[in-house]
Amino acid sequence: MTHKDLADLIFPHITKTIEDYEKMYPERNLPEGAIVTRFAPSPTGFVHMGSLLASFIERKAAKDTNGVFYLRIEDTDQKREVENGIEGIVTDLKNFKIDIDEGALSRTESIGNYGPYIQSERKEIYQAFIKHLLELGLAYPCFCTAEMLDETREMQEATKARIGYYGRYAVCRNIKLEDAYNRIKNGEKYIIRLKSPGDFEKKVVVQDAVKGKIEFPENDLDIVIMKSDGLPTYHFAHLVDDHLMRTTHVIRGDEWVSSLPIHVQLFKMFGFNPPKYAHLSPIMKQEGDTKRKLSKRKDPEAAMSYYAKLGIPTEAVHLYLMTIANTNFEQWYDQNKDKSIDDFKFDFKKISSSGALFDLEKLINISRNYISYLKAEDVYDKVLSWAQVYDNELSELLSKYKEYTISLFGIERYQKKPRKDFESWSTVKDNIWYMYDELFTNVTYDFQKITDKEEIKNILDLYINKYYNELDEKDTWFNKIKELCDELGYASNMKDYKENPNNYKGNIADVSTVIRVVLTSSSMTPDLYELMKLLGIIRIKERINKFIEN
Ligand code: GLU
Repeated sequence: MTHKDLADLIFPHITKTIEDYEKMYPERNLPEGAIVTRFAPSPTGFVHMGSLLASFIERKAAKDTNGVFYLRIEDTDQKREVENGIEGIVTDLKNFKIDIDEGALSRTESIGNYGPYIQSERKEIYQAFIKHLLELGLAYPCFCTAEMLDETREMQEATKARIGYYGRYAVCRNIKLEDAYNRIKNGEKYIIRLKSPGDFEKKVVVQDAVKGKIEFPENDLDIVIMKSDGLPTYHFAHLVDDHLMRTTHVIRGDEWVSSLPIHVQLFKMFGFNPPKYAHLSPIMKQEGDTKRKLSKRKDPEAAMSYYAKLGIPTEAVHLYLMTIANTNFEQWYDQNKDKSIDDFKFDFKKISSSGALFDLEKLINISRNYISYLKAEDVYDKVLSWAQVYDNELSELLSKYKEYTISLFGIERYQKKPRKDFESWSTVKDNIWYMYDELFTNVTYDFQKITDKEEIKNILDLYINKYYNELDEKDTWFNKIKELCDELGYASNMKDYKENPNNYKGNIADVSTVIRVVLTSSSMTPDLYELMKLLGIIRIKERINKFIEN
C-alpha cells in the first residue's frame, strides 16, 4: 500500500497533475515591476467601506504598475452565501468604478485567462493539489467526528493545553495507510488534513508591507484542507488560486494576519514563492470617547449603498479612499489640484498602520469641493443619472429642461471660488427647486426685514413696471435697484445707511431680498441677476402676481 494508492482511491477522477496546471496558467507576461492583485470577497453580504478601500488599493497598485487587478469570488463556505451575493458585489464595484481587468462578471460570465474566478468552480483544480500532497504523504484523511473533536478540545481546555489538532492530539495522523484505505472503501466519512511539518517552538518571520516585520511560531496545526463536501477550506483554496492566478501582492484586511503562518507554510510545502502581503487596518469610528471598528452591522454609513443613495459622486469617494490609503495624498492633491488620482503614485510605505478614523464630514466636504469644480454639463449628467434611480420627479424635470438646467448649474461656477451649494446629488433639488414652475407651488415667503405687504407690493410694482428691463447688463440692472431704493426712501448705499439708519426705511439689501424672495421664496440663492435672466420677464411677472394675488 502506497500513498499513491490512497490518493487514487480518494480522487480517482483527478487525472491532471499540478504540473499540468502550472502549464495551463503560466507566469504572466507583464512589464517589470507589474503588480497582480485580487479582490477576493465571499458572497456573504454587501461591499462595505472597508472592503471597498481594500479593492480600491488593490486596483490602484495594479494600475500604477500596468499590472492586473482581478475579482475572485470565494464561495467555498456555501452555507454562508447569500442570495445574489455575486451580483451584489459586481454591482457595488461597478457603481463605485472599481473596474476589474479580470474576474467574475456574474455567476456565469467572466473575463480573463486565469479562471474560473469563482472558487466553487475550481473544485478539480484544488483536488489535484490535494491529491499531490496525499501522494507525498503530506496530507491525510481524518475520520474524527465532531463529538471526538469536542472532547479533545474540552480536554485541552481542562489541562490548559494549546487548543487544536496537532501533535499527539492529531490522532488520525498516525492511522496506517492500509487502515485509512479500508475505512474509506467501507464508506466512512472523512475530511482531509494537512500533515503540518511545522514546529511550534520555531519562529517564522513575515515582512508585511503595512505592518512591517511580524514574527510568529510556525504552524503545527493539521488544518483541514478539504471538507466532506469535497471543497477546500479558504486557506487551501487561496494558496492554489493566488499561485495559479499569479498574484504578486495579497492586500486584505488584517483579520488575516494571524493566518499567515499557515499561508506561508502552504506556499513553502509546494515550493511556490509566496506573494507579498499587505494587511490593512480596519476603518475606525469614533463613538464618544472611544474608537471602534466601523461595523457592517451597526453603522449604516459602512454600506456603500448608503453613498449611492446619498449621491456622493464616485470620484469623491475615490478621493476620500485615496486620502485614507496613502497618508501623503491629501497634501499632494492640495498642491496639484488640476491633477487626478491617476497621476498620484500609490506607495505601500505610505499606508497608515493604525486604522483610519472614518470621517463622514470630510467625505462630504471632498464631495462638495469636487462638485464645485465640475463643468455644468457634467453636473447635469451626474445628477440626472442619480435622479433616474432615486428621484423620478427630478429626473423628469432635468430631461425636460436640459439647457435651462445646465445654465442654472453654470451660475457662479467658472470662477476662482465657485459656489459650493451641492454636497451630493441628493441635495441638488433642495437648492434649485424654485427654478421650476412645476415645483414652485404652495410657496411661502419670508421677506425678512420688510414685512408690510402693501409696502412689498409697492416695491415690486414699481420695480417691475419702471426699473426692470430684461436687456440690461448687470451693472445697469444693479444701478436700477439703487434708483428704486432712492425713490422709495431706502438707502442705496450701505455706508450711508450705517451712518444714519434713521434717515431710511431700510436699505438696498432689504429691497433686494424682497425681489429675491418673491422670485425664489429663498433669501439665499446664487446670483439674482443670473437667475432673473433665466426666469425671463414673463415668469418674473407671473411670480410677482402670484404673490400679490395671494
Ligand atoms: N474571502 C476572504 C474574505 O472575504 C478573502 C481573504 C483574502 O483576501 O485572502 O475575507
